Amino acid sequence: MFWNKEMETISQTDLEALQLSRLKWTVNHVQNVEFYQKKFRDAGVTPADIQHLDDIEKIPFTTKKELRDGYPFGNIAVPMKQVVRIHTTSGTTGKPTVVGYTRQDLDNWSELIARNLTMIGLTDEDVFQNAVNYGLFTGGLGFHYGGEKIGATVIPSATGNTRRQIEMIDDFGVTAIHCTPSYGMHLAEVAEEMGASLDSLRIGIFGAEPWSENLRKELETRLGVEAFDSYGMSEMYGPGAAFECPEHDGLHLWHDFYFAEIIDPETGERLPDGEKGELVITPLVKEAMPLVRYRTGDITRIIPDACPCRRGKRLARISGRADDMLVIRGINVFPSQIEHTLFSIPEVGDQFMVYVDRINHLDEMTIEVEMNRESFSGELADLAGLQRKVAGAIKESLNLRTTVRLVEPGSLPRFEGKARHVVDRRGEIW
Ligand code: ADP
Ligand code: ZN
Repeated sequence: MFWNKEMETISQTDLEALQLSRLKWTVNHVQNVEFYQKKFRDAGVTPADIQHLDDIEKIPFTTKKELRDGYPFGNIAVPMKQVVRIHTTSGTTGKPTVVGYTRQDLDNWSELIARNLTMIGLTDEDVFQNAVNYGLFTGGLGFHYGGEKIGATVIPSATGNTRRQIEMIDDFGVTAIHCTPSYGMHLAEVAEEMGASLDSLRIGIFGAEPWSENLRKELETRLGVEAFDSYGMSEMYGPGAAFECPEHDGLHLWHDFYFAEIIDPETGERLPDGEKGELVITPLVKEAMPLVRYRTGDITRIIPDACPCRRGKRLARISGRADDMLVIRGINVFPSQIEHTLFSIPEVGDQFMVYVDRINHLDEMTIEVEMNRESFSGELADLAGLQRKVAGAIKESLNLRTTVRLVEPGSLPRFEGKARHVVDRRGEIW
């Protein structure tokens, strides 16, 4: 099903023409921001130099740090009286960035969410529980208005009070839920404790942080849903920029709204489709806070093959942020890879924490992982064996020696929003 069939299945030639005209509009519009005037001047480029899509390479990148330097309203390109809402990033990697929206921006954003929800089969018959934070975090209001746009019955349940959330699912006959994958696991855990049926639930939308294929299986079985991955960031309005279709093989980016490039994060060189690197985005229709060649910090690749659903080119699932990547004794590891491995071992539970220390000039990684309830209450005798099994699995999949500590079920922190699984203590002075 399509929300906007014409745009969702636009031909490559028509798309490129549309992208070019929108790119030209964007490079002109950013001239309303002093920071961009200077950036263009320093690089010796003018908006008139952008005559083809590839000309975008003449323009330098924009970084998160530069946006932070503009705090709070330095990146807004319209008079403040046209800004009808403000959100901020979650501040996962530092001080939050402020983003502004015009009325048109809010309409565009709802259009994206409406496309995504329709793509995965939601209609005005659905009851949609939006279990994410409704404050400055974009996931709350973003999904809320998109859900209303397709006519679904939206429950702004927000986060917290998990038992009540579960009751709502059963009482209101909720068919679709949106939350972070970490909160999804917590909901599953509490629902099991309560013996809730969750019978009505059929779709789970999970996003805002990286999550693995094995976590998908857990969420699908324990919540009884088909799970869909949702990607976005405040700088691209919020969630909804790219979304998984029922093929579950990559996320459709909405190319009429966003021009995507993949670069080598070290050299800044542009990489061909299919190669993995950092995603660089130029939003094509953003009014209040336009950006050019924004370095997202997220690692992915563009899937070159066409999708059977006929929508545009997909992004592979985000493996993590460039700055989440841990380098342990020279080996690159994303927390999502650790998660994937842990989930393949039935005796351990679904919660873990990773600690990285530097001991005698060597990086040492310790993984604390909860045991699951059955293996905890049962044969405690062979703890050492299980510990070896977990360490062996990590060694095999990531080629990394780690110390594994098994902990009691329920003893590690649960997260309502974005999870923090890694504590890197190498920079700290003891
Ligand atoms: P912050 O950058 O402070 O976390 P945002 O709330 O805007 O602020 O979060 C956007 C970031 O969240 C993305 O850049 C990406 O790193 C991460 N993210 C969002 N959705 C996903 C997803 N589906 N998979 C992996 N990472 C995601
Ligand atoms: Zn598809």
